[in-house]
Amino acid sequence: MDTHLIDPFGRVIEYLRLSVTDRCDLRCQYCLPAGFRDFEEPSEWLSFDEMEQLVRAFTELGVRRVRLTGGEPLTRRGLPDLARRLSALPGLEDLSLSTNAVQLAREAVALRQAGVSRLNVSLDSLRPERFASITGGGKLERVRAGLDAARAAGFTPIKINMVVLGGINDDEIGDMVRFCIVHDFTLRLIETMPIGDTGRAASRSYVDLQSVRRRLEAEFDLLPATMAGGGPARYFRVAGTELRIGFITPISQHFCDTCNRVRLTADGALYLCLGQEEKVEFRPLLRAGADSETLKAAIRAAVARKPERHEFQEVPARVVRFMAQTGG
Ligand code: SAM
Repeated sequence: MDTHLIDPFGRVIEYLRLSVTDRCDLRCQYCLPAGFRDFEEPSEWLSFDEMEQLVRAFTELGVRRVRLTGGEPLTRRGLPDLARRLSALPGLEDLSLSTNAVQLAREAVALRQAGVSRLNVSLDSLRPERFASITGGGKLERVRAGLDAARAAGFTPIKINMVVLGGINDDEIGDMVRFCIVHDFTLRLIETMPIGDTGRAASRSYVDLQSVRRRLEAEFDLLPATMAGGGPARYFRVAGTELRIGFITPISQHFCDTCNRVRLTADGALYLCLGQEEKVEFRPLLRAGADSETLKAAIRAAVARKPERHEFQEVPARVVRFMAQTGG
């Protein structure tokens, strides 16, 4: 039995991003439209039993790392229970979580005890009014409380994800660097992607992160660095500090040749590429009582259809779903 997932381009797939809900308690302007409510019904989401069964099949095929995402994963009730079940799977080495941290203060300890080891927190501004404007009404103090709770619960590293938007928050990058130095967070800067109408509209504020790096170099001494986690960010350390800054550049310098991941939506569709439409539906299989061998055969067949790369620049109109619907 082959215990590796290798796509047609020789890439080993060992990372699954698992969306637990498409719902979100924020409306970030580049992600979901203001007032958006057209979410899936909870009956369409995979149950925790179904997720556990499917993730087990992935781990038996060599997937070592799972990230819980959404939508906002903390809006799904009982998330620590799912985390506990997944982190107990033999073969799973790393269970992480992406969150906006709005509800993290309440859940941080339970998630840590359930085996979540690493956290990524989205944070695009440190100014309360601007934060509210970018996120459609989010309250910055709740995110700050969530970060404090995560730190107290022992999460390390904690990575801050900042989507850089020209004329909106790009004047705050220096402040964010200093904030992350003081609080011992890792900072990751992200280029806006044309995903859904919102992502395409926000792409008008696209900033090439190569220029941001050059700007930062005028103020900080950046040394090439590495960071555990296997993601696509290119890291630099700020000399004289422990701060690492990662640049995630899907547009200016795509990293598809090292792509090691696939994404499962909350309703059980496996997307083979964030920037393409190829998907395979797993919910019908699960609900028809598929056994482990059937699931693994379907996963292998899906990975055989993984596209070589996204085409955000060549075909920016391709992805009609919003980021929150795929799982960011
Ligand atoms: N709610 C969680 C969070 O805030 O991290 C997880 C889901 S969210 C969709 C995951 C990440 O996708 C966030 O860091 C968000 O900023 C990013 N994102 C959403 N739409 C994007 C876009 N059009 N371009 C770049 N990043 C985007």
